[in-house]
Amino acid sequence: MPEGIEFLYNYYMTSTKPKLLISACLTGEKCRYDGQIIYNRQAELLAQNYTLVPVCPEMLGGLPVPRPAAEIESGGGDDVIDGRSRVLTTSGDNVTEYFVRGAFKTLEIAQKNEILGAILKSKSPSCGVTTINVKGQPSRGEGVTAALLRRHKINVEEID
Ligand code: SF4
Repeated sequence: MPEGIEFLYNYYMTSTKPKLLISACLTGEKCRYDGQIIYNRQAELLAQNYTLVPVCPEMLGGLPVPRPAAEIESGGGDDVIDGRSRVLTTSGDNVTEYFVRGAFKTLEIAQKNEILGAILKSKSPSCGVTTINVKGQPSRGEGVTAALLRRHKINVEEID
């Protein structure tokens, strides 16, 4: 786990507000594939009432920042988890194992923390809940981590 995220994770573990898992990039962590830091007002508002547990599935899976953009080859997260599809970078490298490993590590953190649900980043091949990018364009679909959490009865919502 990156040092910054580990610090946030340990800090939030001590708080008493109900817990929500959240895509770490939405909290301003530098974990996006392109190394950019994004600011999300909705995440800031959620933090007033909930303990946010930030996770970045792709970094938990072992990928660095920055890293090449990647997309699910066909179908969605369920297809990747079940071995019917792969996650490929734009240059065609197979990064499926990183995405699947990160999804399972995220699930483990979610279960340990007894979260109320998960707020995930739209359009990501890991975190997208209703929308992922296909050939660089937003398309209906679900990322690998979102699919795994949903399979384990965790309520997943997305923000952009
Ligand atoms: Fe990490 Fe998910 Fe944000 Fe991508 S969308 S940087 S996998 S937390």
